[in-house]
Amino acid sequence: MAEGNCLFCKIITGDIPGDVVHRDERCVVIRDINPQAPTHVLVIPFEHLESLDDASQKDEPLLGHLLRVGARVANDEGHSENGYRTVINTGAGAGQSVFHLHIHVLGGRPMHWPPG
Ligand code: AMP
Ligand code: ZN
Repeated sequence: MAEGNCLFCKIITGDIPGDVVHRDERCVVIRDINPQAPTHVLVIPFEHLESLDDASQKDEPLLGHLLRVGARVANDEGHSENGYRTVINTGAGAGQSVFHLHIHVLGGRPMHWPPG
């Protein structure tokens, strides 16, 4: 399951440290090392999928779980009232830099639309 050269797989196994805010049987949530908002966390499934593009029908329950965990963490961080943003960058052209599927959850400042 873990891919040898994948940063997020190494964070999941503990080989590389991460600032973990939540962990359950399917995913881990860590604080982004280069935060773009007062709250910026990454919801990362244990399963190594390169991107959303690699997800198939069997992954639908996992994807739903990741979104709900992101919402729960955003609420725990106090962003229920003012809102928060969930982002999945898919492919280098869309800004993906770590090729292990993850959901960004950002909150604590006004968000603009359209995103850059
Ligand atoms: P993306 O560009 O959508 O693939 O998102 C990857 C995110 O991982 C970026 O926001 C990086 O700041 C973040 N990141 C890279 N290395 C680490 C790390 N060691 N711990 C936490 N976040 C990281
Ligand atoms: Zn991985």
